[in-house]
Amino acid sequence: MTTDRAFRLLSPVVLLAAVVVLVQFGCGGPKTPTGPTTALSVIPETGRVAAASDGIARSVAFPPRNEPFAFRQELEAKYRDGLGRQPQSTFVDLEGDIVWITEYTRYRVNGCNHDQAEARVMQQIDGLGVQPVCGAEQGGRNISFPPRNEPFAFRQSLEAKYRDGLHRFAQSSYVDLEGDIVWITEYTRYRVNNCSHAEATTRVFAQIDGRGVAPTCAAGSASGWISDLQAARDIIDWNMAAAGGTSFRKQDRICRWELPVPVYLQDGPDRDRVIAALDYWRDQAGMSYRLIPSDVLPRLLIRFGMDGLPPWGGGRALVDGTNANNSSKSALAVYQPGGGTYCQLGTTTAGCLMLYRHELGHTLGIYINTPVGLMGGAVELSDREKRMMAALYALPHGARVEADGTWQVLPQ
Ligand SMILES: [Zn+2]
Repeated sequence: MTTDRAFRLLSPVVLLAAVVVLVQFGCGGPKTPTGPTTALSVIPETGRVAAASDGIARSVAFPPRNEPFAFRQELEAKYRDGLGRQPQSTFVDLEGDIVWITEYTRYRVNGCNHDQAEARVMQQIDGLGVQPVCGAEQGGRNISFPPRNEPFAFRQSLEAKYRDGLHRFAQSSYVDLEGDIVWITEYTRYRVNNCSHAEATTRVFAQIDGRGVAPTCAAGSASGWISDLQAARDIIDWNMAAAGGTSFRKQDRICRWELPVPVYLQDGPDRDRVIAALDYWRDQAGMSYRLIPSDVLPRLLIRFGMDGLPPWGGGRALVDGTNANNSSKSALAVYQPGGGTYCQLGTTTAGCLMLYRHELGHTLGIYINTPVGLMGGAVELSDREKRMMAALYALPHGARVEADGTWQVLPQ
């Protein structure tokens, strides 16, 4: 278990040391990445940071403060409920944790070295206000994230500051110091690379679950390359060129949802089984969803009935509506009441679990029955299916993928 955990933590760590992050600025835009624009109570918005909310900094990618804070709360729940970790003692409360780590990172990507960034954050904590950044003239250059040992050292200094300087009481967190700094930094890296809050959170949690380092978000990018060639080819065969739902989507480019998937689930005695299957896809493949209270587009409609089912019953599902960029707008899954023969021997049998999970797969992006895993009739998603879905959802809408892994967004 210890080894397993060490590996999970190692992958983003190695990546942080190696990755060079591109932050693009619009013409006439600010010369530096700016700070968060939505105040939490913990520090005052002053000086140049306040100026960032006047619209000048619109193209800059540091997120508003409430979103990293929401991420930090979700990380706490992930460690508690998903990983089953025990609480540990820390002197830094959640709000201070996320705000000061984000500030440290902001100084680092604006030209400050470790000592400069740490000193500036400590001055802010001491009430001296937001300090100037160090690299005011580096706008438009490639901006790299610091090697991981330095943010970790900062996090330890922050612990000491809260304990010895601020004399805070110890409280508990389910996230250990290393996980704390690594995953917040990863979240921030995704955010400054065009990912939304939901996209960044999904990617970090996929890493925590051992599903690899998903690419950053390519908003504004028109082309790129998928290094996982098997995943690229599976996107072509299982999604783009697959037979399912072809009356309603273009076959020369990908089709996927904008997450979280809006789901309208009709009432029925088997509702709980569908919810369990939705949770399975969320937990195993990052397919976040939200239940909506009425049947309005965009949505995945899930209902119970016998219409259109094959002679052996069970269920059917397809995408039956797309937007101009070929993203999913409408999909339908129909389940036989009771699950038919699949659930004859019990609701927790492999066949019954497979039924509800499998049909959802046909609405989420795998439009044929595959030779492997859940979409091939097994009860669990295979690693190959997970990698395909991760690569699919990392692509921008409208992307056409080639067998050599290259992709480009086609005009609508
Ligand atoms: Zn199928």
